[in-house]
Amino acid sequence: MTRLYISNDTSAVAAGADRLVRAWTREPDIEIVRTSSRGAFFLEPMVERDTKDGRIAWCNVQPHDLPGILAGEGGTPVDRIPFLAQQTRVTFASFGVTRPLSFDDYVAHGGWKGLERARALPPDAVIRELKVSGLRGRGGAAFPVWNKWLVAKDTPADRKYVVANADEGDAGTYCDRMVMEGEPFRLIEGMLICARAIGADRGYIYCRQEYPTAARVLREAIREAELRGLFAHDHGRFHLEVFVGAGSYVCGEETALLDSLEGGRGVVRAKPPYPAVSGLHGKPTIVSNVLTFATVPSILARGGEWHASLGTERSRGTIPLQIGGRVKQPGLAEIPFGATLGEVIERFGGGMAAGARLKAVQVGGPLGSLFPASGLGIRICYDAFAEAGAILGHGGIVVYDDETDMVELARHFMAFTADESCGKCTPCRIGSVRGREILERIQAGRGGQGDLDLLADLGETMKTASLCALGGRAPYPVLTAIEHFGTEFRRGVRGERHEE
Ligand code: SF4
Repeated sequence: MTRLYISNDTSAVAAGADRLVRAWTREPDIEIVRTSSRGAFFLEPMVERDTKDGRIAWCNVQPHDLPGILAGEGGTPVDRIPFLAQQTRVTFASFGVTRPLSFDDYVAHGGWKGLERARALPPDAVIRELKVSGLRGRGGAAFPVWNKWLVAKDTPADRKYVVANADEGDAGTYCDRMVMEGEPFRLIEGMLICARAIGADRGYIYCRQEYPTAARVLREAIREAELRGLFAHDHGRFHLEVFVGAGSYVCGEETALLDSLEGGRGVVRAKPPYPAVSGLHGKPTIVSNVLTFATVPSILARGGEWHASLGTERSRGTIPLQIGGRVKQPGLAEIPFGATLGEVIERFGGGMAAGARLKAVQVGGPLGSLFPASGLGIRICYDAFAEAGAILGHGGIVVYDDETDMVELARHFMAFTADESCGKCTPCRIGSVRGREILERIQAGRGGQGDLDLLADLGETMKTASLCALGGRAPYPVLTAIEHFGTEFRRGVRGERHEE
C-alpha cells in the first residue's frame, strides 16, 4: 500500500487537490491522507510520499501523473524545496505534515505541551513567560500580550472571557484561516492557556462567514478536545464555541466584534474602558487574533527566552508573511522579523511574475500604505513600519505591477472604507464618501484645481479625528498613492500640466 499525502486546505482544494483525490480514490493499493497545507500555494496541488529519507513531493500534479509518482520518478525532497528550506517555521512547523483533526498527530508533534506547562505554573508565572518572550499582538495594534493578560487577570469579576478574533478581512491574508483549517488544536491550546492565566471559563472564536470550512473544522476540533477532557480545569469546565459573524470588516476591530458577539450591530466603542477590564457583557475579556493565540503554545512549551532570541529588538519571534499579487510564488513564508520587504519578495515570492514589472507594494491590507520600489529596503518589523508611516497589520504583502491604475486603486480603497464604516464618527462616515467622490471626479478627468489638496486635508482630518483605525488609516493608501504616483492623479485634474 502506498500512502500519498494531499492537502485539504481551501487554497489547495481551489488549485485542484480534490480533483486528484476523486481521480485516484478507487486506485488499488493507494491510501490517501488529507493533511494541512505547507502554504506553498504556487506548488499546489502537491502530492507527497514517505521515504526513509523523509517526504518526497511532486508539485502542480495532474491526475495522469499518478503512474510516475507510484514509480518514484522525479519528485523533490520536501526539505530541499527552496521556498520551504529558507523559512524558520515555528507556528507553521507541522503544516502539511499532520491531519488537521487528528488529536494523535497533534500530540506527536508537540501538541498540548504548552498547556501542560501553563497548568503546572501559577498564572503570574505564565504571564511572566509571555513578558520575557516579547510577544506582541499579531492582529495589527502590536500591543504587548502579557500586559493585556495581566490587566484581565487582576480585574475582579465573576466571569471572564477569552475571544479569538478570526474575522480575517485584510486583502491578501489567510494565515488565520490556515491555522483554523490546518491546526485547530493549536488555536484551542493558545486560548486554554490564556483562560488558565486570566481565570476565564468561557471562550468564543469569532469567525468570518467567508470561512465555512474553518468554522466546521473548529467545531469538530472543539468536540474532540472536549471528549479528550481538555476543557476540564480547576474551576469546573471551560466552554468554547464558534460564532460566525455577518461579514462586516469593522467587526475585526475588537470592540465592534464584542458588540456583534453580544447580538448587536458591530459598532466601535470608545476606549477606555479596554476590553481587558470591561469587554463582553461588561466582563474582563481578552480579544486576540488567531495567530497571537496560535503562537502562545510554543512560547510556553519552549520558554519565553527562546522566543525572544528570534527577530529584532522590539519585534520578537517569527511572522508568517502571506505573499500575493503579481509575484511568481504566492504563498505563506514564516520567518523571523527583520528581513527587508525586497528580500521577502525575491527569496520567497520568487520575484515578479513573468512579464510583470513592480510598481507598488502594499502591506497590511486595505488600510496599508503603498510603497514604490524605493520602499523595498524597509525592514519587516513593527518599528520600521511605524517609522515609515505604515503598518505591518496581519503580514499580508500584495505586489502590484506596472499595469495597475493607481487612481482606481486609491478609489477602490476609499470606497471600501465608505462601505465598511460603522458610521459612528463623522470623519470616517462622511469623509470616506467625500473622498471617494473626489477620486471619482479625478478618475473621470473632471478634477478641480485643489482637489489633491482637498484630499490631503480630508486625509489629515480622518487620521486625527476618527475613533478607530478604519477611519484613521483609510487615507494612507490614497495619500501614499498620490505621494508616489502623483502624475496619474494630476492627469485627471482640469488645467493641470503633467509630465509623462
Ligand atoms: S472610524 Fe469609522 S469604523 Fe471606526 S468608529 Fe469611526 S465610523 Fe466607525
